[in-house]
Order: sequence, then C-alpha cells, then structure tokens
Amino acid sequence: MINKNKALTVFSGGQDSTTCLYWALQHFDEVHTITFSYGQKHSFEVEVARKIAGKAGVDFHLVDISTIAGIGKNSLTDSAIAMDQEKPEGGWPNTFVPGRNMFFLSIAAVYARERGIFDLVTGVSQTDFSGYPDCRDSFIRSLNVTLNLAMEEQFVIHTPLMWLDKAQTWALADSLGVFDIVRNETLTCYNGVPGDGCGHCPSCRLRKEGLEKYLSDRESFQCSIDGIV
Ligand code: ZN
Repeated sequence: MINKNKALTVFSGGQDSTTCLYWALQHFDEVHTITFSYGQKHSFEVEVARKIAGKAGVDFHLVDISTIAGIGKNSLTDSAIAMDQEKPEGGWPNTFVPGRNMFFLSIAAVYARERGIFDLVTGVSQTDFSGYPDCRDSFIRSLNVTLNLAMEEQFVIHTPLMWLDKAQTWALADSLGVFDIVRNETLTCYNGVPGDGCGHCPSCRLRKEGLEKYLSDRESFQCSIDGIV
C-alpha cells in the first residue's frame, strides 16, 4: 500500500545527505535512512551517519555492497590510487565511483518497496563541481522510470539539491534549522576528517568555498532557496 507519508533517504552522513534528511523530515511524517558500506576508505563515515540518524530520531539501515569496490577502480575505495585534486581534461576525477548512485538508488527502492515506501530522497546535485554523470537530473529521471517499470510501482525520487550550489545548500540547512549540525557533525572530507574537514581535499575546498560564500551574504542566499524548504 502506498503511504505518501513515508520517505527513505539515501544517507551517507555528509553535508548533502544530512541536509536532505532534514528536508525529508520537514516534508514527510515518517523518515527512514539507508546507508551503504561500499568499501570506502573511511568506513568511519558509517558511524557518523549512524550517529546523525540517531540524533534525528530516524530509522537507520546499513547495507554492505563492498563488492562494488572490487569491480571498479577509484581513489575512494583503493588506497593505492592517489586522489585527483582537480577534474582532469575530458574525464572524471578518480573520486568517481562508477555506477554508485545507480546501485544505491536501486537497492534503496527495493528496500523501500518492502516497507511500503515509494518516496526516495537523495542529495545528488547537478551543480556538483565534478559533474559526475550519475548526479545529473537526466540520469535520476531515467532511473526513476526504470525503477517504476522494473517493479511496476510509482516511485518518486526527490532531489532537493539538484539545482543548488554549495552556498545554497548551506542556506537550505540553515532554513531547516540544522546549520550547526551540518557544519559540525557531518563528514564530507575525502580524508575522513569530520566537520570543517582537512581543508585541502577537493570535497573540503568545495564545501568551504560554499560556506564562505553563504556566510558573506546570508540574506540573498536565503531568498534564492525560497520554495525549496
Ligand atoms: Zn578534506
């Protein structure tokens, strides 16, 4: 039975998915989270996710799909590969984990369906600096159709951050009243340092740049996200 009051958030404990978790809490009566262990070097992020979910009072479910680490090479799961600091000309940085969001959302949909949940929330953003193909709106829409066809259901994949840049994502967290939680308790850093992170990896640089931009002009960024909260 479809219950429009429930949603499942794909949750990593990072800035984006934590903001989405609180966005979901604003829009749905009952929110669940699903977190994936995929062989990431910083497995500590799973503990960060568990802790934030506990604090938010939502159900936390961990799924181990670490087999994907063994079939594709990338610097997030393989310590032998030095992390690209910039996007290389004509390609993706090696922080790209091929198929990751497809696996995550497909498994999330099966898990959700079993629980009568048909609203899925994910923190992907097309404005992400790397432009990973599986963060784009066209991919999400295509997968949404595929999931519906695959299970003959009516899933809706919500992507509240799709068109927001990092400064606007901070604005959204602030509007939702969780700026401090997102700033201090999430883990976005590729080097596994929570909060403001190591400060120099590509993920920290992006996060910091967005934060500084947001703090320099809070009001206008707040206006720019009207209608999303
Ligand atoms: Zn970092």
